[in-house]
Amino acid sequence: MSNDKVAIIGGGAAGLFASCRLIQCDIIPTLFEPNQLLGMKLGITGKGRCNVTNNCSVSEFMESIVSNPKFMYSSLNRFTPADTMAFFENLGVPLKTERGRRVFPVSDKATDIVLAMKNFIVSNGCRIISERVTSLSSSDNRVTEIKTNRKTYPGFDYVILCTGGLSYPKTGSTGDGYKLASSLGHTVTDLSPSLIPLECYEESCKEMMGLSLKNTGVKIIDKNSGKIVYNDFGEVLFTHFGLSGPTILSASTHMYPMEPKRYSVSLDLKPALDHETLDRRVLSDFGKYSNKVITNALSDLLPSKMIVPFVDFCKLPRDKKANSVTVAERESIVCGLKNFVFTVKGFRPISEAMVTRGGIRVNEINPNTLKSKKCDNLYFAGEIIDVDAYTGGFSLQIAFSTANAAAMAIKDEIDNKN
Ligand SMILES: Cc1cc2nc3c(=O)[nH]c(=O)nc-3n(C[C@H](O)[C@H](O)[C@H](O)COP(=O)(O)OP(=O)(O)OC[C@H]3O[C@@H](n4cnc5c(N)ncnc54)[C@H](O)[C@@H]3O)c2cc1C
Repeated sequence: MSNDKVAIIGGGAAGLFASCRLIQCDIIPTLFEPNQLLGMKLGITGKGRCNVTNNCSVSEFMESIVSNPKFMYSSLNRFTPADTMAFFENLGVPLKTERGRRVFPVSDKATDIVLAMKNFIVSNGCRIISERVTSLSSSDNRVTEIKTNRKTYPGFDYVILCTGGLSYPKTGSTGDGYKLASSLGHTVTDLSPSLIPLECYEESCKEMMGLSLKNTGVKIIDKNSGKIVYNDFGEVLFTHFGLSGPTILSASTHMYPMEPKRYSVSLDLKPALDHETLDRRVLSDFGKYSNKVITNALSDLLPSKMIVPFVDFCKLPRDKKANSVTVAERESIVCGLKNFVFTVKGFRPISEAMVTRGGIRVNEINPNTLKSKKCDNLYFAGEIIDVDAYTGGFSLQIAFSTANAAAMAIKDEIDNKN
């Protein structure tokens, strides 16, 4: 058992994971976490099911990282998604892989992931201090004291700072870590929301609120450059303010800088059908329902909540009979099905983002060890670092791989000393 003292600041996904990995190396850390509940955000991930990682190769993983993928190369290779799966299975949480290679606990309970780590660290004697770290003192490029809202704790040999980002502040991630790191000479890049729903101008979103579309084509067009900045298929959800759902959240990572009216979202409601096939399909439905109004004749093609907003989008009278639709009008319907457009007003507030874009500048951190280049005994892990990725279990894997790298680097330093 090592006598070296390791402090972990933040008992979220990265902090819990770093604690487990250190304990597995016979190093018992002290964990600072102000919440009575450890891993509060982890407990609500994946709509309460926790999409714990993505069961893909490291090279595929790298393609899903939006900011600073190169920084992640070393720690991801050292601790891969397969390693994460083995880790949780060993802790007694069976996992399953679903669509898009998203990995969840078989129980569908995020709390099983939290409890497995919590029980492991508590049963191995990890000291948990339920206090908020308010400042870090340093001397000779080393953290010498950790001050909390109650006390001062001197004498830690190593400190891992993993206080998360700015999103969902009720879970504890209020951005404290950025100030703590800045006080030690680190740079914090611009912080903004990522994996965030979009507010749109169209009132029709409200009418379609609650409607969730699977297998929808999503293109994001930057009107300033005319370029398509994102193009994928997946799930889209209409809300009272605009658009959400996994594909929209991933698309949001490409909408920078965000400016009102700059981006439009084009939905392909029938991505499996080309223009001609779709035209034949509309013609056939209009033949089948020839005496009905188009809002009824479209009932086989579209969910009922969408029909009126869609007909309005095509600028057709709602009470037009199917048998009186002209070729040009049918063409506008087919074009609308392939290109149902919404204009983006802006992002929802950062408090509603799944992750924070930006963080501690990566060139101030060693990517192999996650050790600060500004402070000799300081390490980083998790969302506090300027790395972000798509939805699909990538953010948690980033937290686990970086936490593992920091824990293993501390273990190596201790081994080399002794
Ligand atoms: C609703 C939602 C769903 C999500 N679902 C998924 C998903 O299914 N899959 C996925 O991969 N990612 C998901 N994410 C993203 C993922 O949860 C985060 O990226 C991940 O939790 C980051 O881990 P972290 O340890 O860096 O930060 P956090 O988990 O936020 O933990 C940081 C901890 O630090 C503590 N802390 C803060 N300040 C201090 C301080 N001053 N002193 C001491 N402690 C402090 C906080 O209380 C908190 O417990 C989701 C996010 C949200 C908001």
